Amino acid sequence: MALEKYKKKRKFNKTPEPLGKEKQKSLKRFVVQKHDASSLHYDFRLELPEKIDFGKVILKSWAVPKGVPEIAGVKHLAVQVEDHPVDYINFAGIIPKGNYGAGVVEIWDKGRFKLIEYDNKFLKFELNGKRLRGRYVLTQFTPQKRNWLIFKMKS
Ligand code: MN
Repeated sequence: MALEKYKKKRKFNKTPEPLGKEKQKSLKRFVVQKHDASSLHYDFRLELPEKIDFGKVILKSWAVPKGVPEIAGVKHLAVQVEDHPVDYINFAGIIPKGNYGAGVVEIWDKGRFKLIEYDNKFLKFELNGKRLRGRYVLTQFTPQKRNWLIFKMKS
């Protein structure tokens, strides 16, 4: 069920993006994909079970217009988007014109994370990537609009 929205938005004979599957086990990886679509944004994805502590493993995903902050205390908007298949974590390439999200996707950072604390509208985790390192918070502030804030903690 988790990937229904993902699949509905795409024609897999017209995009190189993976059709993908839900997986059973999370390797606790994350990725930031720079996505030069109709407006440039950064897609931040965490490999987690659909319901965070149970369910099929997918990539929880947020579109971050200004990118994931590298400086502690700087808060950026992160709009939650549809869950993506785990295979998407390695995706880089060109989504052809006329397709959903058309434009260039490149991997900006990836690595592992540790989940420190969470509920359904709050996640605290530690990122161990090449660019992004340290403790981060994602917190939902307008549920209707799936608007979250992402920031790096000061310590
Ligand atoms: Mn995107």
